[in-house]
Amino acid sequence: METNSLLRQLPKVDALLMREDIEALTQAVPRALVVEAVRAVIDDARAAIRSGEAVDVSADALAGAALSRAQLRARSSLRRVINATGIVVHTNLGRSPLAAEAVDAVADVARGYSTLEYDVDDGVRGSRHVHVESLICRLTGAEAAMAVNNNAAAVMMALAALARGKEAIVSRGQLVEIGGSFRVPDVMAESGAKMVEVGTTNKTHLRDYEAALTSETGLLLKVHTSNYRVVGFTEEVALADLVALGARHGVPVMEDQGSGVLIDLRRWGLPYEPTVSESVAAGAHVVTCSGDKLLGGPQAGIIAGKADVIARLKKHPLARAMRLDKMTLAALETTLRLYLDPDRAVERIPTLRMLTATKTEIAARASRLANEIARRCEGAYLAGTTEDVSRAGGGALPMADIPTVCVALAPQHMSANELEHRLRTGEPHIIARIVDDRVLLDPRTLTAADEADVIEALTRLAGADVR
Ligand SMILES: *Cc1c(COP(=O)(O)O)cnc(C)c1O
Repeated sequence: METNSLLRQLPKVDALLMREDIEALTQAVPRALVVEAVRAVIDDARAAIRSGEAVDVSADALAGAALSRAQLRARSSLRRVINATGIVVHTNLGRSPLAAEAVDAVADVARGYSTLEYDVDDGVRGSRHVHVESLICRLTGAEAAMAVNNNAAAVMMALAALARGKEAIVSRGQLVEIGGSFRVPDVMAESGAKMVEVGTTNKTHLRDYEAALTSETGLLLKVHTSNYRVVGFTEEVALADLVALGARHGVPVMEDQGSGVLIDLRRWGLPYEPTVSESVAAGAHVVTCSGDKLLGGPQAGIIAGKADVIARLKKHPLARAMRLDKMTLAALETTLRLYLDPDRAVERIPTLRMLTATKTEIAARASRLANEIARRCEGAYLAGTTEDVSRAGGGALPMADIPTVCVALAPQHMSANELEHRLRTGEPHIIARIVDDRVLLDPRTLTAADEADVIEALTRLAGADVR
């Protein structure tokens, strides 16, 4: 009886659609999504009534539910998040934020037509490689260069071009997995190169490579074990020694450098990480790296090397499948241009700026942020600061504990887990960490605009929860 009367009271779809608030929503959200949301809300209410749950069947309640449902469906899937984790190159959060100059360059070429493959001087077809090739050469000392979709593509293409159907010799200590789906043995297999493993996990000697060389050898491969280190009783062969060995046997040498460090970051207080120029100077025929790790640009794979090898790569059938689009090229070119002045690069490229920010600087920002939160959200959180470590992330500098100072929040009206969840699912999404029952926010990965948004979100949550 109760059930039947509730079911009868359920508003009709058409009645809800005629409401002013629902009608107004169709200005912003496609009508089809609004209609779907209204239907779904009524269906859900009907099912809930049938299973005996208490349901508010008023038109206001159902319209409200339909509005939020339609808005959720209509929002973009790929959205901005605020990264308060202190992990600078956070692969799941999109790796490197771009420099403002790079963002402008992307918008500029995206809006209209561009010189992507057009030579304005001669009015003829040009090459999309020209936009970054001379810059990469200048910054790495390489004879020639090109860029593709990501480093995985760069490695795959270089292996296919140099070692398909031949043997590629690699140290057992370098058969790494990076970020889940990039595994050196799998990429080698897919490229058609026959992997010949030498040495052991912790030690590989030059004589191991030498003993493995045959008439079938097409390549000596060195992989930078970006995201892990074997420490203790270890040995690997220097790139220059591999190059000398290769030269004696007429075999090219390739290095997957990984992180894309273009300038020696020790000058700015970071630990040593080999640069692409060092690999080029050591004589490697091909060096590959990512564009969006420590380089701080867009997702891309950079291939620097000898002129004859790069010429072969440009003509390889995979080059078309792996080529960069105009927006990425614009971002990459602009980012690389910033490197022409290394101090400017460190100042303007967010990844470098965040990595090189000093603990003193971060501590001052953490105190300011904590004070502001305490002042604005009276009593909602105990806000202090705590020493912690930031991480380079992106499988780079895995051993580097980058000292930092975080804002530490102990919420007084909800658990730390609840606060972390609300920050994460709110808009904009704020990704924080929990340590010892406190929510930690690392200013290292926050911009000034992010800080303002964090304060606002915390103020909102404080208002909602002061009981
Ligand atoms: C990160 C990394 C890769 C994969 O690069 P993507 O740009 O993610 O495709 C390959 N090799 C090494 C050594 C790396 O560090």
